[in-house]
Amino acid sequence: MRVYTVILLICVVCCVLRGGEGPAGGSSSSGIDAAHFAGLCSNMETDHFRLIHDLRSEQAEAIGQVLEFAYGQFGAYFSRYGFELKHPELPLEWMCFRREGSFADYALATERMDLSWLSGYYSSRTNRVAVVGPRRVGRWRGGPEGGAEFASAGGEVVDVGLVKIVHEAGHQLAFNTGLQKRGVMYPMWATEGVALVFEDCASDYLPTVRYSEARKKRLLELYREGLLIRLDDFVTMVRVPSGIPEADIYAQAWGFFLFLCENRTADLRDYFDYLYSLKSGARTAYHLRREFFESFGEIGELEREWSFFLELSAVSKPFLAGAPNRN
Ligand SMILES: [Zn+2]
Repeated sequence: MRVYTVILLICVVCCVLRGGEGPAGGSSSSGIDAAHFAGLCSNMETDHFRLIHDLRSEQAEAIGQVLEFAYGQFGAYFSRYGFELKHPELPLEWMCFRREGSFADYALATERMDLSWLSGYYSSRTNRVAVVGPRRVGRWRGGPEGGAEFASAGGEVVDVGLVKIVHEAGHQLAFNTGLQKRGVMYPMWATEGVALVFEDCASDYLPTVRYSEARKKRLLELYREGLLIRLDDFVTMVRVPSGIPEADIYAQAWGFFLFLCENRTADLRDYFDYLYSLKSGARTAYHLRREFFESFGEIGELEREWSFFLELSAVSKPFLAGAPNRN
């Protein structure tokens, strides 16, 4: 059975595929799209999204509800930190597949990559999210209100399918609201950080446990064991290095992004604004490091602040809760 993108129970493995900026999205689905589905292909429109799918209609509706919820949460979350977001110009498209094989074939045809090990990804080239329809989607239909009933029914589990939808929506919204720019290279901590900190809004949709708890636990373990990657290297990483568990990199990206949100808010906005001004194309570690230093200053000082943040977090209960910033 395919790994359903679960690491440490909650870490959603995903993939942001980069490439030159392709179609802006919003093009009406066509026979070309329909050919990717094993079953009858349908279109479903919500206020801000278009789902092209071969799922049952109630499954597609449940996903659409979550996406609209995520849409509202995304703007609210990042505006707390002073980011000025714009509305997407066109409906944001999702390809939702009933069968894993159809998903893998679509990925191969459109991305020229074997992504059969994934169950979802956002492509900045096509500006689409492609997912295999989560199986537990029926539980989501109650939305934020229905979640209380689910939780009281003993649902102290992490619904990874729900987190995946929110995570990929976070990537797509970042690249369509002016936070990130398609075609520009971003370091992993920035691209994944946005989606990882945003995942916790799934806890507001179905309030069971906070999805970040296991990630927080792993982050502090890595810190205590001296296994965190030095910031001087971490800030230029654009992919998971071989030999390091993906969950560990995600834990550090999640914590580091939250640290910057809480402690270096203006610098973080400055950094994202600068990267947004760049033209498409690859850049080297030299450039990524220089750009980081120009916004955040000397790395030694930042490393000290980061360590202090983790020390405090280890003894502070509300640590890294993604609380709104005060400035
Ligand atoms: Zn991701």
